Amino acid sequence: MSDRPAPGAPENRQPSTLAIHAGEDELTTRAPVVPPVVQSATFVWADPADGPLLYTRYGNNPNQVQLARKMAALEGMEASVPLASGMAAVAMTLLALTEAGDHVVASSRLYGATHALLTTELPRRGVTATLVDPVGDWEAAVRPETRVLYLELPTNPTIRVVDPRPVVRLARQRGLTVVCDATFASPINFRAADHGLDVAVQSATKYLGGHSDLIAGVVSGPREVTERVGEMARLYGPALDPHTAWLLDRGIRTLDVRMERHNRNALEIARRMEGAPGVRGVVYPGLPSHPDHALAAELFRGFGGMIALVLEGGGDAADRFVRRLRLAVAAPSLGGVETLVSQPRHTSHHALSATEREALGIPDGFVRISVGLEDPEDLLADFAQALEG
Ligand SMILES: *Cc1c(COP(=O)(O)O)cnc(C)c1O
Repeated sequence: MSDRPAPGAPENRQPSTLAIHAGEDELTTRAPVVPPVVQSATFVWADPADGPLLYTRYGNNPNQVQLARKMAALEGMEASVPLASGMAAVAMTLLALTEAGDHVVASSRLYGATHALLTTELPRRGVTATLVDPVGDWEAAVRPETRVLYLELPTNPTIRVVDPRPVVRLARQRGLTVVCDATFASPINFRAADHGLDVAVQSATKYLGGHSDLIAGVVSGPREVTERVGEMARLYGPALDPHTAWLLDRGIRTLDVRMERHNRNALEIARRMEGAPGVRGVVYPGLPSHPDHALAAELFRGFGGMIALVLEGGGDAADRFVRRLRLAVAAPSLGGVETLVSQPRHTSHHALSATEREALGIPDGFVRISVGLEDPEDLLADFAQALEG
């Protein structure tokens, strides 16, 4: 597990401290201990002497500004841009970094909407992409017009961990920008900047918000990139609403302690479900049986809250299991305080055939679990009774 610098000077503060206090200043901290929601679309502003607060779509609402500073501190990046969804973060980043004629090399293991953006939408705007096996040869796919390398870490739903180091080396040699969507890890388990990745994208809908009650995204990176992302956001318009920014900031305050519990619960459940009756396999990077266990232990501060069960009896058994759950909730998405269960064959990988899914490591019977913060004994009891059916 990677080490953190010792606490002391403000720039060395630890994630748990940053998650609570980073971003506070005279702009947002007056009498109330909690910065108020500034639910205003516009600000008193006659000319530039009136300061930086101007218009909420521009990203300079105090709730957006404070959140941006907090996220930059947590990611260890120069600057951040909070946006209205994870997909806004992905899309504005790709628009900011490319123009017509440019090319992107991306991991083939992508969030569904990111996959569609790269393979069908951006090509309509003259930006093409080549998808590569993330543990395969990225270099062979690079062309003179390549600008961006794009990967997700860890991947959905098989929770594979790609070693970012060769990708970063390639980017440095060829003058490319590496973008990493680290939503599944959160900046607590994996800080992209510590590994040389240039730009970090987060769906804040997941662990950062943490309560399954908001949609948001954040892009972090060098200022020249985030300024361009901000320009794209001003033009395309996915500004984060101030109230959602405020809720997200409240979620982030407990991110460190929640991740610690997600990590612990998932490890406990993964260990105990391995070999349970009706369970053919458990996929979790914290288990020695996982193909990337050693790499995950080296790169991550925790193995995360996402596990998968492969049930004996295939799709029918998985359907029965999910329908019989009484505590865990059948729903897509992840990263909330409550345990969420879904089957990729019905959600993200619905368009593929069973054979294609099997080749990706997602056989029928594969059940994805976003382990929440409930007591693991209660969750294990729920899974056991659902398996008995
Ligand atoms: C959910 C998710 C997104 C999209 O985020 P939204 O907030 O739903 O727009 C992007 N990447 C990953 C890895 C995700 O899990």
